[in-house]
Amino acid sequence: MFIDTAKIFIKAGKGGNGAVTFHREKFVASGGPDGGDGGRGGNIVFKVDTNLSTLIDFRYKRKYVAANGEDGRGGRCYGKGAEDLIIYVPMGTVIKEAESGRILADMSDFEPHIIAKGGKGGWGNSHFATPTRQTPRFAKPGTPGEEMDVILELKLLADVGLVGFPNVGKSTLVSVVSEAKPEIANYHFTTITPVLGVVRMGVGKSFVMADIPGLIEGAGEGVGLGHQFLRHVERCRMLVHIVDIAGSEGRDPIDDFEVINSELRIFNPELANRPMIVAGNKCDLATDEQVEEFKNYVEERGYKFFPIMAAIRDGVDPLLNCILENLSKLPPIVTFEPDPVPVKSEADFGDTSVEIEAHDGVYFVKGKWLLQLIESINFDDYESLQYFERVLLNTGVIDALRDAGCNEGDTVSIYDVEFDFVE
Ligand code: GDP
Ligand code: MG
Repeated sequence: MFIDTAKIFIKAGKGGNGAVTFHREKFVASGGPDGGDGGRGGNIVFKVDTNLSTLIDFRYKRKYVAANGEDGRGGRCYGKGAEDLIIYVPMGTVIKEAESGRILADMSDFEPHIIAKGGKGGWGNSHFATPTRQTPRFAKPGTPGEEMDVILELKLLADVGLVGFPNVGKSTLVSVVSEAKPEIANYHFTTITPVLGVVRMGVGKSFVMADIPGLIEGAGEGVGLGHQFLRHVERCRMLVHIVDIAGSEGRDPIDDFEVINSELRIFNPELANRPMIVAGNKCDLATDEQVEEFKNYVEERGYKFFPIMAAIRDGVDPLLNCILENLSKLPPIVTFEPDPVPVKSEADFGDTSVEIEAHDGVYFVKGKWLLQLIESINFDDYESLQYFERVLLNTGVIDALRDAGCNEGDTVSIYDVEFDFVE
């Protein structure tokens, strides 16, 4: 079965907690704090595996959780960082955050992409020792890892996409010009999996052709089979529209041509402007007049036209040469840039209550929303920092700190952010 979309849950590992320990040695009365830091949690990383061609694996396994970092230990021993969890996907998989629809990555290269970041390890108590605070009995917990539902969508990477009604000869064409062997049969929808074929035309001259399952009327609106396959046409640099020029199944070739074009337009208006050339197949079954009439119709509308007999590879070379010439002038295959992280306004955080714990002049502030806030702040940027302060003030965090006894010069610790309290 061909599966080209999936929704999965991913969760990165939590950072390990910092340790609260003190140096102990025989005959040494009281050693200093020596609690080590926790290790970082494992990231969720996506990578391309070219052996994969569908997302079928994700139909059976839908939950991916990376390991947590180890807690710190005594003797300033760091907890071990957890290994990343690597999820392999086929080339051309677009990853979106389910909740917002935001594009997180387009897996169109061999780079690993971190999609959910592991939590940071907490500091051990040795970090908190100062001349006036020699025995800190606290350490920081690790921060949680990011977690979310993501949608995976496979959008094939091909230079040329073949479009047309079922049974017009698309698979036949791919099979005679490339090594790919899509199924060919005289009934509709034999092709239920898009097949990529590499067309080699001499040294350094090759392109990838995608045999895309037949479109039917209404496909653009999601009726029946076809809609799901249009997704794969989206990235093609150009289209070759194949028409049964003989009308061998009782349809009119000109109607066919217009129906498919309108399906493309409905699915994505941009597709209607994609460079397209037209091939009239099954010329062996057509009269000269039929071919002439159709040729005139499409040429009048500005398309290049090629009469072919795919089954016996007749007329195919001029078509391939024209494709190659067109491709040489077209921009490379479209890849999608990740969407920027949206800046949250205060209202977006919802419940902004916090928990404050004080230890020896360090005030630990906890609240899940604060993690999201920190994630969105660029601490090297003055304006971003001002925004951070404003949010803390407006949501009452500063007042809550004051109520908890925090004074000028005390340390405020919000997950991995630390600053001195200033009145
Ligand atoms: P697809 O559904 O568009 O992929 O069509 P197929 O490639 O599976 O072909 C459908 C039928 O048309 C098959 O029985 C092919 O053998 C036949 N066919 C393909 N090319 C030609 C041709 O040039 N002439 C004739 N008469 N039949 C063809
Ligand atoms: Mg086919």
